[in-house]
Amino acid sequence: MKVLIAGAGIGGLTAALCLLQRGFDVKIYEKSETLGEVGAGIQLPPNAMKVFEKLGISEALKKVAFAPKALEARLGEDGRKIFSVPIDAQRWGGPYLTIHRADYVEVLKTALLRQFPKSLICYVNIVSYNASSAGIAFQTSSGDMVSGDILIGADGIKSAIRGQMLRADKPRFTGNVAWRAVVPASALSAALRSTSCAWFGRGKHAVTYPLRGGELVNFVGVVEREAPLDEGWRERGDISDILSDFAGWDSYLTDVLKAISPDDLYRWGLYDRAPLERWTDGRAALLGDAAHPMLPFMAQGAAMAVEDAWALADELSKADELSHSNDISAAILRYESRRKPRASMVQAASRANMKTFHQRSTLGQITTYGPMWLAGSYAPSIIKRRLDKFYAYDVTGNKP
Ligand code: FAD
Repeated sequence: MKVLIAGAGIGGLTAALCLLQRGFDVKIYEKSETLGEVGAGIQLPPNAMKVFEKLGISEALKKVAFAPKALEARLGEDGRKIFSVPIDAQRWGGPYLTIHRADYVEVLKTALLRQFPKSLICYVNIVSYNASSAGIAFQTSSGDMVSGDILIGADGIKSAIRGQMLRADKPRFTGNVAWRAVVPASALSAALRSTSCAWFGRGKHAVTYPLRGGELVNFVGVVEREAPLDEGWRERGDISDILSDFAGWDSYLTDVLKAISPDDLYRWGLYDRAPLERWTDGRAALLGDAAHPMLPFMAQGAAMAVEDAWALADELSKADELSHSNDISAAILRYESRRKPRASMVQAASRANMKTFHQRSTLGQITTYGPMWLAGSYAPSIIKRRLDKFYAYDVTGNKP
């Protein structure tokens, strides 16, 4: 069974590892000349770590990541703590890591190429696909056709595979732009360097967490703005703009902002889509941001791609006899029914967090953050229980 994967992001690479482990013949085709990721961090929650445990690469990830002690929420303006919940690896069935994106992709790529050196082909821009009862083929921008039995569209939010499968509409601008930066931890006070912290504010929020064993600190600052960014979705920023966006915020955050290298400062438009009507088309399936792009306000977008990858490989390998078109389509449809409700739930939770994080009025702040503070101070298990459905979920064990 020959599986073609479009896109070697976190989703495509994980799908390749899951399928190769089950004996499929897999090739990933990536548009860029080399694999790379933006110079920023990412949170790697326990639900995704369960997949990497099964793939035998959780230790390699732990080695280059950081394991925060707690998940915290604070008021951006004065740094007051709303709650701090210790990471409960036992309850959630795996560690909660924060990792540099380049390190994350490097671990996946190394695991892939060590076992299957010829499985990744770069500089291939897939533009369309054709399916028949005998197989599926994609066409590249240089006119080549590549054929196989199954095609996985892991080609991100602007997915060409999705564009053909559904319609070529654009993702929607969510009214938020994100500043992203990584700074040396040595420039910051040690007190807040061991947690993953969300800082809530009026019409904006920020997130800080350590990377690379604590050497670096990642900063994401999200600000509401009416005008969408142009295609390409990122624009250069000036230190004075970011300082003005977060003027008057807690001194830990202003220290982070002052440590940013001015040559390396960008802001990104944040886009998402409403849940799609379907993710599959016979022998073709979408995965990750191609299927369910979401606001990063649950820090679960890549984790959902990782869960998708496991579920798709699992459903394909469950079929007794995958030589008939109907068997393949049925397995792919089972994948869609297994994954769509969960990914749609996380998409909605991410959107809902925008309101929670960005409370503008003092009354809204009191009524939203007050109960969180009470729970954090007197019954942290309430907060943990709210997080269980995201972190305790085990796609490898089929648990709800
Ligand atoms: P992508 O990473 O977009 O990969 C798609 C790949 O396909 C790319 O390599 C691209 O070059 C390639 N490609 C595209 N088109 C073609 C084509 N036509 N032919 C061949 N190849 C093609 N998620 C988390 O889990 N935790 C977090 O903490 C987190 N924080 C975030 C913070 C921010 C500010 C943002 C914006 C997102 C965050 N996310 C987070 C979400 C996460 O980054 C994405 O969900 C994840 O990277 C999606 O992975 P993917 O593999 O589906 O797509």
